[in-house]
Amino acid sequence: MAQVKWFILASFICIQSISVNAQPGTIITNIQLVDGTGKPASRASVRIQGDKIVAIGALKPNKMDQVIDGKGKVLAPGFIDSHSHHFGDLTKNRSGLSTSSQGITTIVIGQDGNGYPMDSLSKWMIENPVVSNVASYTGQSSLREIAMGENDLYRNATVPELQKMKTILASELAKGSFGLSTGLEYEAAFYSSKQEVIDLAKVTAANQGLYTSHIRSEDLHMDEAIDEIIEIGRQTKMPVQVSHIKIANKLNWGTANLILEKLNQARKTGVNISADVYPYTFWNSTLRVLFPGKDFDNLASAEMATKQLFDPNESVLVQFAPNPNYVGKTITAIGVERNEQPAQALISLIQLAEDFKKANPNYTGSVEAIAGKAMSEEDIKTFLAWPESIICSDGNSGGHPRGYGAFTRVLGRYVRESNLMPLEKAIYKMTGQSADFFGFKNRGRIAVGNFADLVLLDPATVMDEANLKNSKALSKGIEMVWVNGQLVYQAQKATGNLPGVLIKRK
Ligand SMILES: [Zn+2]
Repeated sequence: MAQVKWFILASFICIQSISVNAQPGTIITNIQLVDGTGKPASRASVRIQGDKIVAIGALKPNKMDQVIDGKGKVLAPGFIDSHSHHFGDLTKNRSGLSTSSQGITTIVIGQDGNGYPMDSLSKWMIENPVVSNVASYTGQSSLREIAMGENDLYRNATVPELQKMKTILASELAKGSFGLSTGLEYEAAFYSSKQEVIDLAKVTAANQGLYTSHIRSEDLHMDEAIDEIIEIGRQTKMPVQVSHIKIANKLNWGTANLILEKLNQARKTGVNISADVYPYTFWNSTLRVLFPGKDFDNLASAEMATKQLFDPNESVLVQFAPNPNYVGKTITAIGVERNEQPAQALISLIQLAEDFKKANPNYTGSVEAIAGKAMSEEDIKTFLAWPESIICSDGNSGGHPRGYGAFTRVLGRYVRESNLMPLEKAIYKMTGQSADFFGFKNRGRIAVGNFADLVLLDPATVMDEANLKNSKALSKGIEMVWVNGQLVYQAQKATGNLPGVLIKRK
């Protein structure tokens, strides 16, 4: 009986290899396979055919196969960027290096409350394929703009407006959106009530979606903001995720463990809460988020911001349409030029940006952005090491270096240099664990039948190179990247292949 079983198994493998042998493929040999499950690296070869991984093991190439010698380096699943703003760049530069050069093969967009309608995204992706796979959330602020008008958002939605938002959201979820994203700290959503958010979250849960949130406060009122997302997870029972978790209030630096204790406690009572995190001590956002009370001309608030919420000596303007000469300078340096203290400079810059917007109503793109030095290294390490956190970039192209270096920074600085966790664990947080969160059934792990999203990297040299002065510098140690079986990046260059697809929630 045992023999018969063995025979059936053997013939099954044989049949599979015959169908595989019929066409040429690519074999990547001489690699350390880090398969995205977290288990230790092993020696193996991987065979790709079409857009899939078709065999793993001690493989012999066929005559027609292209053989790639991995030279003992690591082959991992392509990285999934759970919170990305790269899409805007990819629409202009479709083989864009910002994703592939750091090993990212799938970006999840529609973040912080801002998203694209699924129909137009779908149409765009078919007509204009890009280098990376794309998945998307539906944004609460975008829904509010449709239902309430983009200039009337500083209030709670009315009952008919909320109904309209729910209807659109349900339809977007049916079209493959992965869930609801909110950017509650931003003014377009800040004035929405907890109930409005819960009502929308319930629609999402009823359609088996996910909830991700740039929470209402990452500084002064972070505790209440964490309570709010826990409550949403409790009431809806769906997976909820804190976007780019951070502690941006200097007085609370070093308390990441307390936050995680609270999240772990909620998990114990059945709330499926997790977080994503990027590996930098500075964020990238608007000057306006530095005013939690939205009192943008209040000098006392500005002074509190410069003391507690960011370091004006190390925080750099990365975008400033009213005066591009300020870009690249710190708030303190701009203050010196303007003969103002940093707090007053902050107020002046916001006023200049407002005046610019009024004078240029048709200006598209962001008028101002700042890379704000606001977090402690210790907290970042604590969040990165939390078993429930996954890695994101929160990046786009240019401005903040995370757009080019978030994933390689984790592997170079936090894995190799500071030994925060084993390589396999870090890669799991960039691949298998993210795929599980999103429910990507056939991505995020190197397994037979999965899509061939792959990265070949050198664990001895992988490192981010982008910084505030040169935010587009390419990482070291990312040797080759494949998306859906096609090589997209090699020797620090895009190959020009554009195999990215729109991934829809099933
Ligand atoms: Zn955000």
